[in-house]
Parts: sequence; C-alpha cells; structure tokens
Amino acid sequence: MSKNPSSLPLPMLPITRPSIDEETIAAVGDVLRSGWITSGPKVQAFEAALSEICGGRPVRAFNSGTATLEVALRLAGVGPGDEVISTPLTWVATANVILEVGATPVLVDIDPLTRNIDLEQLEAAITPRTRALLPVDLAGLPVDRDRLYAIAKRHRLRVVEDAAQSFGASWKGQAIGSIGDFVSFSFHANKNLTTGEGGALVLPADIDLGLCERRRLQGVKRAADGTMDVDVLGGKFNLTDLAAAVGLGQLRHLQEFTERRRALARRYFAAIEPALGLTLPPADFSNCNWHMFQPLLPAGSDRGAFIAAMKEEGIGIGVHYPPLHLFSLYRGLGFRAGQFPQAENVGARTVTLPLFPAMSDGDVDRVCTALSRTLKI
Ligand SMILES: *Cc1c(COP(=O)(O)O)cnc(C)c1O
Repeated sequence: MSKNPSSLPLPMLPITRPSIDEETIAAVGDVLRSGWITSGPKVQAFEAALSEICGGRPVRAFNSGTATLEVALRLAGVGPGDEVISTPLTWVATANVILEVGATPVLVDIDPLTRNIDLEQLEAAITPRTRALLPVDLAGLPVDRDRLYAIAKRHRLRVVEDAAQSFGASWKGQAIGSIGDFVSFSFHANKNLTTGEGGALVLPADIDLGLCERRRLQGVKRAADGTMDVDVLGGKFNLTDLAAAVGLGQLRHLQEFTERRRALARRYFAAIEPALGLTLPPADFSNCNWHMFQPLLPAGSDRGAFIAAMKEEGIGIGVHYPPLHLFSLYRGLGFRAGQFPQAENVGARTVTLPLFPAMSDGDVDRVCTALSRTLKI
C-alpha cells in the first residue's frame, strides 16, 4: 500500500542523471551537419577550454578516463617490472590500467575518515621498484596534495592523479588539474561533467605533447608533405567532435553544477536524522565537488535489504565500490580478504544516495524521509 494514498506514486529518483541543455543538443546537431564528426575543431576548442581551467597547462582530450590513465602511465615510463601504488577502494579501471601496461599494482589501505588512500601507508609501501603513485579522489574529495607531492618528491616518483571524480574540485583554492604531475579526468555519463564517454589528461611540462598524441591514436606521425610514420605503439583513444561539443556545452555550467551539488550535500547533512546511526562523509565544502554523497550504514546492516526497501520508496541507491582486491582477477594475483580492513569495512557498508544538479531540495527531503522510514526499527 502507498504510504500517502492521496497522491500518485512519485517517479523513481535515480542516483544520478546528466543535465544537458538545449543549446548543447543544438551544437551536436551542428557538428552532425558540418560533415566533420570525429576529432577536429571541437576537440581542439574543448582542449583549449580545459587548459584554461587547468591554469594554462597542456590538456589532451581522450575517449575515456581509462585511456587517459593508461597513456599517462606509459608517458611516465611505467612498464613491466615496475610497481604502481594505488587504493583498493575505487572503480576497477584504476587498477586495471596498471595491469594493462604490464606493471604490478601495489595496493594500500584507505584512511577511514577521507576514504582515500592512507598516505602514511603509501609511503611505507614504496620499494626500489616503485615507479609511480596513482591516488584517487574518491567521491570528488581530493587526496591531500601537499602531503602527496612531498612524498613523491622525497622518493622521486611520478604521480598520475586519478581525478576522474574530482573535475571541478580544488585543493586549497587551486582547481584540480591546475597543479601536480599527470592529472586524469573522466567525462563518463555519471561524472560531474560529461561527454557521454570521454576523458582528458593534463600533462606535466617535461612530457612531449606529440608523443602523447601518438599514444592516443595508433602512433601516427603525419608530415607536412602528406606522408606518415609510426614510431611508437598507440591506441585508439581519440575523442569525437560530437562528444567535444557536449563537453563544451557542459563546461558553461561547471561552476553552477558544482555549487548545486555542494548545496544538495549541505541539505543532506542538515536533513539526515542523526538517530539513524549513519556515518556521514567528511563535510568538506571548499575542496570537494560532491561527485557522490555516501553515508555508511551501521555496522552489520543488511545492505541488500536496505537497497530493496529504498527502491520500494522510489529511491535509487548505488554501491561505490566493492573493494577491487576481492574481485576474482585480483584474488588470482594474490590479493585476499582481510588485507585492507578499512577499505573492506567501507566497501561493505557504503551506499550512494541520489545527487545530481537537477535534483530539487524536495528530492533530498524525500530521500531523507525514506531513509528514516527504512532504517528506523
Ligand atoms: C570513471 C572512473 C574511471 C574511468 O573513467 P572512464 O571514463 O569510465 O574510462 C577511472 N577511475 C575512477 C576513479 C573513475 O571513477
């Protein structure tokens, strides 16, 4: 029975939904009519706009945030025999790319407060074989850049920031991407800024942009006389002008998206009943872009039953992420349960609540009312 029989059931509230305006849809139509729909002028304009956000640093657009990570590792000189240190609590792409370039993923546990990689344990895990650090800004909360780069400098290591979730976030007033070594963004449909599928890589000053471009597209080097050569193995990682037109349209709203997400997160903090026993994420409203809002259920809760009950209330709930070291592929490499207790604890209890710019304040209240009904005994 409906709990409020006088009203029609509300539509399902998803965990996220992209906001695409009519101007952007029209711009995609223009690209389709232009006769040039793969990488071209729109990609160049998108790269220039991204570079402006990243303090003028060089940026190259890719067709995914996985491709940017893989190419960044290759440009950083990472390959067989090298170790790359990362976190088990992330989307599996982060670790898959380490395997893809033939290197060894070395995982260390998370800091239970930030849920990002524990920098003390990271430094302790460095060996003579360590070549690069691959930290992740989970839910858009930046890893402490001061401590991270102090460690990288001390041990002369390259850093590939997996900033897939932190586009629009900042570190002490500086936009993520405007500082640091390699910075990798994703523009997947669920990210704060989307091109459907896509990504961008911010490059450090010592990296040859031509090599980056060849790694992006089949290693091809074109000469002015129309001939070509291939001197390095490249992937098929270029972004289309169709996608870039979406990205350019999205960029006009970046600040508004981030501000709206912060306002919605603030409302969650105010409206979630403390008596429910949820563990809330760190209340950071200056650095974090609130890519996700993720409370932890009380220890021992039946998360599957919770998700099903919220679905009955018309509320979508996500799980980001099951710790990746427990996936079969990684168990096969020797990882095992119990190895990263903090990541395993968060991974077992985390739930992602709906949060996207088009949500209303009333939607947040609706989620919170459903939480109270679902979690109260
Ligand atoms: C989304 C994501 C990626 C991969 O990005 P794609 O564009 O989907 O390839 C990598 N790392 C993290 C943390 C992500 O959230």
